[in-house]
Amino acid sequence: MLEINGKEGGGQLLRTALALSLCTGEAFRMEHIRAKRPRPGLMRQHLTAVQAARDVGNATVAGAEPGSLTLEFTPGAVRGGDYHWPIGTAGSTTLVVQTVLPALWMARVDARLLLEGGTHNPLAPSADFMVDSFLPLMRRMGLQAHLRLERHGFYPAGGGAVLMDISASKAPVPLHVPERGEAIGMSVTALMSSVPGRVGERELDAVRRRLPIADEHRHIRQAIGSPGPGNALMVRVQCSEVTELFTAFGERGVTAERVGERVSEEARAYLASGAAVGPYLADQLLLPLALAGGGNFTTQAPTEHSRTNAALIEKFLPVQIDFDELGEDLWAVTVSA
Ligand code: AMP
Repeated sequence: MLEINGKEGGGQLLRTALALSLCTGEAFRMEHIRAKRPRPGLMRQHLTAVQAARDVGNATVAGAEPGSLTLEFTPGAVRGGDYHWPIGTAGSTTLVVQTVLPALWMARVDARLLLEGGTHNPLAPSADFMVDSFLPLMRRMGLQAHLRLERHGFYPAGGGAVLMDISASKAPVPLHVPERGEAIGMSVTALMSSVPGRVGERELDAVRRRLPIADEHRHIRQAIGSPGPGNALMVRVQCSEVTELFTAFGERGVTAERVGERVSEEARAYLASGAAVGPYLADQLLLPLALAGGGNFTTQAPTEHSRTNAALIEKFLPVQIDFDELGEDLWAVTVSA
């Protein structure tokens, strides 16, 4: 059983361990889970990821309780089929998708996943990010999968739903994204659920002052079926090799102008860096590339998420992940067998 110290990581370290364990068949024991976080141990959203991984992989699990600092996970055979995971809170649906997707891909099975919870959460990939940024790159690696948003869900009410269809796919092939390619266009969307007043217009104005986005590419979209209020402001940068999506969230006490400024700054930093992928895609690409046995991309300065993820991947799989600085806020990431 692989021993993993979860002290330096967050929820992502746990999800990566679950995904890798399902893919490799190797059991693990993680200690000091989220030990440095304000509320350490397993929280509800992490338990859903554990539950999903257990269902998909017929796994035996010990320590899957709220607040638990230790988890033992012994995977069995991965099976496809229909799954339904109601997270029950605004916990991120997409993070659970990312936990089980690699294993279902590697097992080459058909599966349909219905997840209920948050679809646009701070500190997680949004459903739009999955559709626009993450999944197109996975399809280039051979995955046959589609994600459909059924209902929007925001923190704290949740109540959103996504449906993910996965078809038996060929094994992942290496992905090389050294450049983002030619600029195709930029757009901005203010996604609104029960937000009063002119918040959306003000957000779009704040973005227009900072990014060259034509009027016809500035949109206000009403959320579908969301039981609670919410607001996400998303800037989409489409290039021939990659589409990046940057998101900021409206919240109480933060002005619409500030939300517009936040998302613009993220997009501007990405544009200025010249990198192919931004910091979020970077940490999310490491696992699929490792499973494919190789690949490379350029990105902005590696985050702690990317570093800890890479170290864990190297524990499970016979790959090496190198981060090389190429210039200011420009790095090359290479995964080699
Ligand atoms: P953790 O903080 O450990 O729960 O992991 C969060 C995960 O969500 C990481 O894989 C991040 O790349 C991803 N993530 C966080 N914020 C965003 C965002 N704005 N867009 C896309 N992915 C994100």
